[in-house]
Amino acid sequence: MKIEKVFVIGSGTMGNGIAHTFAQIGFKTTMMDISEEALKKALTTIEKNLDRQVKKGSLTEEAKQSTLANITSTTNYDSIADADLVIEAATENKQLKFKIFEEVDKLAKPDAILATNTSTISITEIAAKTTRPNKFIGMHFMNPVPMMKLVEIIRGLATDDETYKIIHETAIQLGKIPVLANDYPGFIANRILMPFINEAIFALMEGVGTIEGIDQVAKLGFAHPMGPLTLADLIGLDTVLAILDVLHNDLGDPRYRPCPLLKKLVAAGYYGRKNGKGFYDYSTETPTPININLA
Ligand code: NAD
Repeated sequence: MKIEKVFVIGSGTMGNGIAHTFAQIGFKTTMMDISEEALKKALTTIEKNLDRQVKKGSLTEEAKQSTLANITSTTNYDSIADADLVIEAATENKQLKFKIFEEVDKLAKPDAILATNTSTISITEIAAKTTRPNKFIGMHFMNPVPMMKLVEIIRGLATDDETYKIIHETAIQLGKIPVLANDYPGFIANRILMPFINEAIFALMEGVGTIEGIDQVAKLGFAHPMGPLTLADLIGLDTVLAILDVLHNDLGDPRYRPCPLLKKLVAAGYYGRKNGKGFYDYSTETPTPININLA
């Protein structure tokens, strides 16, 4: 089977980057979201990111225009039956993903491959909600998708060799480097990254360092391109919490217990870059650390 048409579910932080990346390589891409506002924001983000690529000289104006022409957006599943590949990048919530795939399975053509970009939820468990677990796979892109080379590919218990081969080849076609991960909570990337971010938040809560201090240590001391608190804001604090909850519940190990300060920030509506406030405030040109009352 040749993949030509792609249907991306969810147009948030990851969905718009995934749609951008597929469209730039020439795939006809539909971006679907339940929120009109999210779709509008996603299209603006894609255009802004393409402009940046043109300015840098890594993309021609013509390629930018053809990328945009390859993307359509919708709030319904009307055109999903045309898709060869469906990639779900909706909110990190197990029950939501179950519901989405139960519906998608009924509407997508029988030989379409169904993929999820979940950060941590069991591929096998989501696949079991469909009638085609052999055609179900994890395709875990990194943020920001157009820039990051890595794609983790996760086979569920029943994923067949053909599906794996097609997704592996598609990742290479996108200019990415696929790495196979086993279907365990967090796969490889988040099993390692999330305890690091969580520990940084505990260090902040316990007064070991300031927001800037903790980020500086990772940048200057470990040569990380950004600190763990800046990275948490980029991922989205609600998403970080959802990932830690799955790691904690599914691995049953207290070392993955989400830091209470993270829970408090999410409860207060601090989701990070996507809504303008997390460990930093993004309302000014240079992000500034927020004041946290730790007393
Ligand atoms: P996000 O909160 O930025 O966006 C989620 C989008 O899904 C929103 O626009 C929302 O309106 C939409 N949505 C919710 N319910 C929907 C439904 N029923 N149908 C269609 N759209 C729906 O989240 P995100 O950061 O883009 O994460 C999406 C997925 O990608 C999650 O599974 C997450 O774990 C994973 N992921 C995130 C990152 C990251 O750095 N943020 C990295 C890799 C993977």
